[in-house]
Amino acid sequence: MPLIEDQPRLSKGVLQGAGALTQGVAMEWQWGRPAGLIITTVAVPGGFLLRHAAEEVKVLTRPKWLVCPACLRQCRYLLFYKRWCCRRCSGCQPRVWHRFRGVPFLRRQTIVRQMLNAPPSSLRAFELRRRLHKVNREIRKAMERRYGKV
Ligand SMILES: [Zn+2]
Repeated sequence: MPLIEDQPRLSKGVLQGAGALTQGVAMEWQWGRPAGLIITTVAVPGGFLLRHAAEEVKVLTRPKWLVCPACLRQCRYLLFYKRWCCRRCSGCQPRVWHRFRGVPFLRRQTIVRQMLNAPPSSLRAFELRRRLHKVNREIRKAMERRYGKV
């Protein structure tokens, strides 16, 4: 699964700090990974043009946000994964989701947190309940191994 932290990113703060959002300014940006990724931004009224190879997309800016050119949601930064997009529509996951993968108790906390956001009768909630049962079983087994059956 691709991780958000591994992809090149372009944030509103960095663009602004570099002066790239000042109208008329064109700026080149490079990343070492993937090798040779080079884009040019050109500030225009209401946002900037992002030129990448033969493609050009217009990215709109808001006072604190960027507007994702792929899904039009507001975001703090764009990332490049197959295309320029935001973290939510990129299909990438945050590293922290994977850091505690092996710890059932922490996985349980994550699932419970996700359940609060899922409509109770949705397929997503069903899937989360299934995962919760599974992780509960793992925790019970680990407790039994450590303390014996109670
Ligand atoms: Zn998006």
